[in-house]
Amino acid sequence: ATFGTLSDRLTSTFSALRTKGKLSPADVDGTVREIRRALLDADVALPVVKDFTAAVRERALGDEVNKALNPAQQVVQIVNDELVGILGGEQRRLQFAKTPPTVIMLAGLQGAGKTTLAGKLAKWLKADGHTPILVAADLQRPNAVQQLQVVGEQAGVAVYAPEPGNGVGDPVKVAKNAIKHARDKQHDVVIVDTAGRLGVDAELMKQAANIRKAVDPDEVLFVIDAMIGQDAVSTAKAFQEGVDFTGVVLSKLDGDARGGAALSVASITGRPIMFASTGEGLDDFEPFHPDRMASRILDLGDILTLIEQAQKSFDEEDAKRTAEKFATDSFTLEDFLAQMQQLKSMGSLKGMLGMLPGARGMKDQLENFDEGELTRTEAIIQSMTPKERQLPKLLNGSRRLRIARGSGTTVTEVNALVNRFEQAAKMMKTMAKGGMPQMPGMGPM
Ligand code: GDP
Repeated sequence: ATFGTLSDRLTSTFSALRTKGKLSPADVDGTVREIRRALLDADVALPVVKDFTAAVRERALGDEVNKALNPAQQVVQIVNDELVGILGGEQRRLQFAKTPPTVIMLAGLQGAGKTTLAGKLAKWLKADGHTPILVAADLQRPNAVQQLQVVGEQAGVAVYAPEPGNGVGDPVKVAKNAIKHARDKQHDVVIVDTAGRLGVDAELMKQAANIRKAVDPDEVLFVIDAMIGQDAVSTAKAFQEGVDFTGVVLSKLDGDARGGAALSVASITGRPIMFASTGEGLDDFEPFHPDRMASRILDLGDILTLIEQAQKSFDEEDAKRTAEKFATDSFTLEDFLAQMQQLKSMGSLKGMLGMLPGARGMKDQLENFDEGELTRTEAIIQSMTPKERQLPKLLNGSRRLRIARGSGTTVTEVNALVNRFEQAAKMMKTMAKGGMPQMPGMGPM
């Protein structure tokens, strides 16, 4: 994943320090040199690396490390602090207008992930009680308007698209009309998607600047693809000069990019990273917390994000109903499937496990973790008739064969799933009744 190599290099640098008691100036220099190389290899921009390593070096040679009980740990703490610093320090939240609608404009190169982000942002705002509307001011790219409509539908929010005779072809007019429309229809947030180009060009900048002038946005978010490497810095600077922006969104952080360029953007432009996009789905999106990202990079874990994601997909009523089903023996494969889908909606399991402290040390296990298994289980249950899902006892040999064929799996896999389900149901029943589960072969506890 993004920052993976950087993370590995930094953590191994620190583990080399752990065996030492006091740190000599030579130890500090060696460590700083390693950090410098790791950052440069990850594509972090040179001026950022220079400032970063100078700050770490100065502090590492100072009293806070010298007097520390555990100097190596203190150095990790310093690197963590400085990393939080280059990522922008405090989390910066969206600024809402005093009188609605709040206008959020998106800018960035074509393919950066603006349209997808528009949907993610809208869905996220909607879940928070807002009534956002998406505006298609990208009239450059064929299908851009339609793509936004699809995204809007997925997010369950309104989309304002130009109608013939209503300023078609002129994104500035469209954007202006959209604000008026939003006010009339009482949408409290307007998200304006603008056109991008494959490269930075003067006309693109002029158009974006004109839209900005026309709609006077509360936030201008610059969306940047973490995969574009070293070009990130020059692209960010060009957009800052051409349109200027109030915040940065890092997209495609799920990819294999080295990511360091993205790390430089906040520090080079002086604008905070506000959100991170981590996949193609509308839920693959998080507000950006510099401290949490630093912890992830240094493999100190990101428990807070993990808990938030779990809470997002946890429904208390649902959980109560399930517990009741367990207790009364009426838990079916249908419920099993629903639970599995809920688990999936929490996002990539691998991504979630990766947020645990020390996760990089378990990299191999994570790599072998099979998300396809979940999909196969789902396929098997979906190949059953509703009756079979309610009454797994019905599943005789010929039914199992039919299900295996229908789901593209084998009878062995179907058998394994049914066994797993029965064991889980039995165990849960015991627990729901307040007893400790009896693991097979473990005897009474
Ligand atoms: P736009 O041209 O800036 O509007 O970019 P799009 O929103 O159309 O995104 C371009 C492509 O990148 C699409 O195929 C998206 O599905 C994909 N994409 C967007 N955000 C992400 C992300 O965070 N991760 C991944 N893997 N793909 C993304």
